[in-house]
Amino acid sequence: MASDCLFCRIIAHEIPAKLVLENEHVVAFRDINPQAPVHVVIVPRDHVASLNDAKDPAMLGHLSLAAAQIAKSEGIADSGYRTVVNTNADAGQTVFHIHLHLIGGRDMRWPPG
Ligand code: 5GP
Ligand code: ZN
Repeated sequence: MASDCLFCRIIAHEIPAKLVLENEHVVAFRDINPQAPVHVVIVPRDHVASLNDAKDPAMLGHLSLAAAQIAKSEGIADSGYRTVVNTNADAGQTVFHIHLHLIGGRDMRWPPG
């Protein structure tokens, strides 16, 4: 755990969040500034700053499989959803603990802004 990392502190239950899923590998919680009716942030328990630093293929797989599981439980698996990993400045990454956004519950455009 990185004690100066917001998401590590949410994982440790030091900072409150609306938790959606916790398992051995990942923790998922509702985004504080949701961009859609469903907006869940999924993070690995281990601190990795960004996709540039990821080394464990299984960790990346656990993020995606958790997104699919939550999409089903939130009722958006059939209507559709988007999973996004923002990396560094051009993508607008603001929290440097890798996370997968699960966004759904409304129509979305492509390309994204
Ligand atoms: P990024 O911009 O790094 O891809 O995504 C970070 C996300 O974390 C943003 O969507 C932001 O709204 C969310 N976020 C930032 N601080 C908090 C917080 O304290 N609690 C929760 N639940 N989400 C947060
Ligand atoms: Zn962290």
